[in-house]
Amino acid sequence: MKNMILEVGAYVDALRPIIYIPHNDFTSIERVIENVAQEEFDIVEFNHGYGYVDFRTKLPKTNCSLSEFLRYADDISNEPRFLVLKDVHGELGEPEVQALLKSIAMKNLYKEDFYCTVFILSTSLVVPTELESLMTILEIGAPDVSDIEELIKDFSRVQDIDIEQSIIDEMTLSFKGLSEFEIYQILNLAYQSNGEITAEDKSLILREKEQFVKKSGMLEIINFQEDIDDIGGLENLKAWLRRKGRIFNHLDQAMKAGVDIPKGLMMVGMPGCGKSLAAKATAKLFNVPLLRLDIGKLFNVPLLRLDIGKLFGKYVGESEDNMRRALKTAEAVSPCILWVDEIEKAFSGIGDSGGGNSVTTRLFGTFLTWMQEKESTVFVVATANDISSLPPELLRKGRFDELFSVNLPNKEERRRIIDIHLTKRQKNNLDIDTIKIVKETEGFNGADLESVVRDAIENLYLEGRDTLTTGDLLDVVKETKGISTSLKDKISQIKSSLEKFDIKPASRMDE
Ligand code: ADP
Repeated sequence: MKNMILEVGAYVDALRPIIYIPHNDFTSIERVIENVAQEEFDIVEFNHGYGYVDFRTKLPKTNCSLSEFLRYADDISNEPRFLVLKDVHGELGEPEVQALLKSIAMKNLYKEDFYCTVFILSTSLVVPTELESLMTILEIGAPDVSDIEELIKDFSRVQDIDIEQSIIDEMTLSFKGLSEFEIYQILNLAYQSNGEITAEDKSLILREKEQFVKKSGMLEIINFQEDIDDIGGLENLKAWLRRKGRIFNHLDQAMKAGVDIPKGLMMVGMPGCGKSLAAKATAKLFNVPLLRLDIGKLFNVPLLRLDIGKLFGKYVGESEDNMRRALKTAEAVSPCILWVDEIEKAFSGIGDSGGGNSVTTRLFGTFLTWMQEKESTVFVVATANDISSLPPELLRKGRFDELFSVNLPNKEERRRIIDIHLTKRQKNNLDIDTIKIVKETEGFNGADLESVVRDAIENLYLEGRDTLTTGDLLDVVKETKGISTSLKDKISQIKSSLEKFDIKPASRMDE
């Protein structure tokens, strides 16, 4: 908070005319502005509910439109003043509003005795090109660990309750990513329910966080059953996940011991070989929610109808703003897994002479910077089939903790996958010779093998029999075209692009 006051104060002193603060917790930002203003600046507020409002008392003064409010502010006076405009992002494209903001900004910069700094507080960041040069965007991060700890302690002092230090430590981590206002609300809710704050209240935090995800719209919480034992093969990947899982499950201790917070994992390679399965298994292993980023929604259109050129419309940065909000939401829910499925669809073609376009490039920039700087406990799991269309920066060391290549399952892996799917359906009898089936299924992926098991069991049922035999499975294998046949060109393209990169195999080679 102190740093924020200094930063905002410095911008005001430097006569920055319009300061845009994208945030959803207006209460704490208002406190900062009030602190900067002190006795020196009068503060007037505009909001859509009441028009012109007394900033300090919140009493309505005059019901007016934004233009009327700005015209009034432009006319008056030499008294130093802050204008606080709330949620006006929708009007910033209007010529009249732009002209008035420009006029105020110019007077602030060049007219003697005219001091008027405009603050725009808004949940969305939308910057029209016409105002770009006059606006300073001030991104305010969520409170850090020490701020959060202080907040909890303050709360316990004010309410006169004791909270154990170990609970404070745990809660501090769970609260990461939430704003001051949101933290205060959850503490209050927990306190109101039984007059104390205990370890049980952690589930309350999680429930509240899930609400944020639902509201954000760009992320989806995935519910699933699978765990790491449902993955056949991919032993290197599984061993790595188990290690990181041990860290993630004891983050507080691990961090105190100097261990880095795990950042993320990227899996590239053949479709239908267990990448999505591994994303789910990670969430199960780490004991955290799985959020899937819907890339299509970042652009406000379904992925299939994505016409990026057309989206580059009225406002600069609409898609990046969506991306930023999605990432902030993930931080608010952290610890969590953020699953970016088929990441190549979002970021392909960047840097090509023809295909690269500025929206995707900037979107990619936003994502990379976030990946690089993130200190939160959002563990990113990115999956991709085709590595050749991915920008190389994404694959560079330091972005993800590890990159794994996923290939078609080898013999031993095929045996295990068949076993898993037979066991799942309670049909794993001793008479089945899986080795025979493995021999006939070269070039099949995990999804093909699953469908062999599924279809054989369906046939069995329809024929009114009980015991599944090797022959039943082999009959289906004969009828099935594995992915290497059905998508021959695609599979050989993925194979050759994988060979060009030196990426750790997810499978153990000696199997
Ligand atoms: P992708 O690699 O394209 O993300 P998925 O993980 O979605 O593939 O696999 C599709 C389905 O195929 C899974 O839900 C699972 O039933 C089966 N499958 C694929 N790979 C494996 C595997 N290694 N072990 C067990 N089942 C698998």
